[in-house]
Amino acid sequence: MIALHGGAGALSSQTMSAEKERDYRQALDAITRSGQTILADGGNALDAVTQAVRLLEECPLFNAGIGAVFTHQGAHELDASVMDGRSRSAGAVCGVRHIRNPILAARAVMEHSPHVMFTGEGAEQFAFRQGLARVENDFFSTPERYQQLQRALAADGGALLDHDGAAADPIDPDRKFGTVGAVACDSQGNLAAATSTGGMTNKQAGRVGDSPIIGAGCYADNATVAVSCTGTGEVFIRTAAAHEVAALVAYAGLSLEQAAARVVFEQILPLGGSGGLIAVDAAGHVALPFNSEGMYRAVGYVGQAPDVGIYR
Ligand code: ASP
Repeated sequence: MIALHGGAGALSSQTMSAEKERDYRQALDAITRSGQTILADGGNALDAVTQAVRLLEECPLFNAGIGAVFTHQGAHELDASVMDGRSRSAGAVCGVRHIRNPILAARAVMEHSPHVMFTGEGAEQFAFRQGLARVENDFFSTPERYQQLQRALAADGGALLDHDGAAADPIDPDRKFGTVGAVACDSQGNLAAATSTGGMTNKQAGRVGDSPIIGAGCYADNATVAVSCTGTGEVFIRTAAAHEVAALVAYAGLSLEQAAARVVFEQILPLGGSGGLIAVDAAGHVALPFNSEGMYRAVGYVGQAPDVGIYR
């Protein structure tokens, strides 16, 4: 099975347009199906999550790749990570501006370097040496995200979670965490997780959230769980959120569902964090808890239609 998220945040039911909601649902459904096809054809969990996150990066509805939010300075700085539960191999890039698909760069770091994380220009040079596509920074720009930045600047607000706000999205685009992620369990019981983001609207240049940090926004270990997070990155870092789910399963004997809920409601929330996570274990159990009003999400078991959700 595969599960996806497209970010979490505040719902604005008054301004929600049926058309936008349909667009989100269709995108989540189609991308889940493409992950399911890989798994149905005997593909592994790592390939399924990489493909799903690459497609989410290509979809302008979500805050990763095309459609990434703007920094305070008006640019895009992207972060991504991937982890293979078979070996606990991991790769990540942060603060990249010209790599078309940061998730492919994270995977290249994992597979073609002895390291786990590359930042900024060094990450880009590494990715281009691996043959990955280069784009101009404004390749990622969309008018919606630009308006979001203008609203954040006008409100003199701090950094905003991508889905936390108020416009024509089912989840207000100014007040949401539009990070994307995927977790999967393949037919061999292998787990994998991948996460990719533009970060938070109006973030300062150089700010890095949880998404590219292994153990915070992404984690996978066949022995426990695969997790991808979305929300207030600073709090997910401080709680080591993704690894904390694994630790509660491994050491406290909690079920996947109990462990995931405990992190989201008893650790993230008291520290002022908003958001959620998706998690899967090797038995194919899935949990998708969030403490915000909504989280774009989907679950697809091979052979079944995807189950797509937005609201509570
Ligand atoms: N967690 C991401 C960050 O802090 C934001 C998000 O989930 O949308 O960069």
